[in-house]
Amino acid sequence: MPELYGLEGPLLSPLSPGRAKWIAPGLLAYGRDGVIVHSGPRRNIAGLKPIRIPKGTIIIPGLIDCHSHLSQHQAVGRTGFTLLGWLKKHIYPAELMLAGRREAERSSRDYLEILLANGVTCSALYTNFYQGVLAAHHQAKRCGIRALIGYTLMDRNVPARLKQNPDQAIGECRELAEVFKADNGEGRLFFSLNPRFAPACSPNFLKSIGRLARQGGLFIQTHLSENLQEIARVKSSFPWAKSYAGVYDRFGLLTPKTLLAHCIHLSPAERQLVFDRECAVIHCPSSNLFLHSGRFPLEHWAGYPKLALGSDLAAGPSPSMLEVMRDGYYTNLQSMRSLFHMATLGAAQSLGLDDSLGSLEPGKQADFSIVRIRGLDEEGSEQVLARMVFQRAEFVKTFISGRQVWPPPRK
Ligand SMILES: [Zn+2]
Repeated sequence: MPELYGLEGPLLSPLSPGRAKWIAPGLLAYGRDGVIVHSGPRRNIAGLKPIRIPKGTIIIPGLIDCHSHLSQHQAVGRTGFTLLGWLKKHIYPAELMLAGRREAERSSRDYLEILLANGVTCSALYTNFYQGVLAAHHQAKRCGIRALIGYTLMDRNVPARLKQNPDQAIGECRELAEVFKADNGEGRLFFSLNPRFAPACSPNFLKSIGRLARQGGLFIQTHLSENLQEIARVKSSFPWAKSYAGVYDRFGLLTPKTLLAHCIHLSPAERQLVFDRECAVIHCPSSNLFLHSGRFPLEHWAGYPKLALGSDLAAGPSPSMLEVMRDGYYTNLQSMRSLFHMATLGAAQSLGLDDSLGSLEPGKQADFSIVRIRGLDEEGSEQVLARMVFQRAEFVKTFISGRQVWPPPRK
């Protein structure tokens, strides 16, 4: 077995929101331990016999989806409503389907494989029920993907069968945190606490979630300020609160390990709060268009290091981060390079994992895809990215820590 592996071909990797590294032809080399040792112009490396990737393909880092709902993936394309009506009519019934272990295993396997087929090597996701987390953990280990996994926590304003007893749910989450501590899939898997959104949780439940997150150093995933009716419901549910973000802050839920999806209608004071607490802001353009939630005001977040993209499947209809990048381009006038950054390095920064993920720099994990782009030429990173997104590139192969995960290797 060789000590070093190498691929020769064009490389595209993010540097900053406005810059990307485009090297054609280039060489990506990594060790048997899955860590990148070289990413740059071709050169001879002792002991390395690189393989040339097919003509018309390039190498990009693994894409990171910072917000999605595994338990909704069979409910894509249910129209007719904005957020609250859509949840009630289409999503709560879909999430109830995952109550059984068998269905949860099948759904987790299908969904995670779809992600790998789309070059997504890391996903921050929601599932439902204790069994759903165990199933997602099991299937993520099996297919080799990286994931933050939590189940949607809620104890009011949702159908009875989705409502949890807060004490029991906190006990389950403690147990699940231990399961992930005992087996984190070689460092790829993290348990997270996922309150659905403030109106679905009582003050006591939010308080307990905040306490457990602090005790366990856990990630928190939730939604913030997606829709105007939702904000009105927060006002009536928490009449004492100065703002929606203020509700989460009151219960210790805004931390550097918190991922906040949407953040569309925040006041300047709320933005400052999110900024001060160093939370990640997850822009979900496809979902915002689908549910007519409003435009994410990108201009307020210029230079913010923890800015990422989320598919928000099933409100976002596609698990492809290329389609999410396309919708991001339609939503705000921004470069493809900055969207690419939000789906890679910015996402890794949002998760606090940029020392090992998010780009093809030496020292990081060899998470990457070989992508076929029609009409590929040498016009530089911006135009190559535009072709990749608007001509819907094909993911030929995907690797995590240097191991092929898509197509699944034959045993
Ligand atoms: Zn969501």
